Amino acid sequence: MEPLPVIDQKLCTGCHRCVDVCPTQVLVQVAGKAFLAFPERCTYCTACEDVCPEDAISLPFLIVLAPPTAS
Ligand code: SF4
Ligand code: SF4
Repeated sequence: MEPLPVIDQKLCTGCHRCVDVCPTQVLVQVAGKAFLAFPERCTYCTACEDVCPEDAISLPFLIVLAPPTAS
């Protein structure tokens, strides 16, 4: 299964920005919280993560290892 955006329901304030920005209508708002309703449509564009003012959305598939620091 593909990794998908993860919405932290505790951080989400229901501002609706991610729902509005998602180009493929993956997200909907349910009971004042964003919800990944159609994960099969997700193109991993990262727009939802970028727009969230609460950092409630994380994209696990974008985690990269930091380069080693020069010493
Ligand atoms: S990563 Fe892009 S396509 Fe996927 S839910 Fe977020 S805004 Fe929508
Ligand atoms: S942008 Fe963030 S705070 Fe706003 S509805 Fe989406 S997940 Fe919740």
